[in-house]
Amino acid sequence: MNQYYLKKKKAIFFICLSFLFVVSSSFFSVKKVNKKPLFVVVVDAGHGGYDVGNECSDLKKFNQEKDIVLPVALELGGYLENLLENVKVIYTRKDDTFVSLEKRTEIANEASADLFVSIHANHNPNKNIHGCQVHIHNHDIKFSKIFAKKLMSQLSERAKRKVLKLQTTNSRGHNLFVLQNTKMPAVLVEIGFMSNPREEVYLNSEYGQAILASAIFRAVREYREVVQ
Ligand SMILES: [Zn+2]
Repeated sequence: MNQYYLKKKKAIFFICLSFLFVVSSSFFSVKKVNKKPLFVVVVDAGHGGYDVGNECSDLKKFNQEKDIVLPVALELGGYLENLLENVKVIYTRKDDTFVSLEKRTEIANEASADLFVSIHANHNPNKNIHGCQVHIHNHDIKFSKIFAKKLMSQLSERAKRKVLKLQTTNSRGHNLFVLQNTKMPAVLVEIGFMSNPREEVYLNSEYGQAILASAIFRAVREYREVVQ
């Protein structure tokens, strides 16, 4: 009797072991197949240092543009690094330092980045104007446009922001240096108008910054699915 149970136990043990082996090997092989190639994103926080960007309405209450876009950029980079596999984030600045436009494009081009995302905040003499706005170099840059469209949807759906019309070199009537000189798909996103009183509060809030970073992150994640 004892021998019989021992044999039975042994048999069960080996069945379990081989089952585990099959499950784990198929799990790892599936993972291997799904492993994505490296995806390099340049996260560009606009302005910095003596270049404050757009000025706020009240320095006692709010930040200048350079200090609004930096936390959004850092948060975006954090999401990309922590939530996506095999992604390399390159920041053009991680603190309050001045970086020239030439240097920003050089960083992106030297890294042969897959995507360049420049983050800014807008200003208009008309205080009623509000919303996010996405800029690309030209409509015919196919992948910039694909990302821009995804970004606009996420800003609207995830962040619940008003989203203004996509801007290209033609509709703007002028070039934007970082978009003109980067060799990869590139967008510049104005995350809102500091000149609109309600939007200025939102842009300075931790909540607003986190949701905006999350919306941009989701657009990058979706875009990567299309190109890789
Ligand atoms: Zn700016």
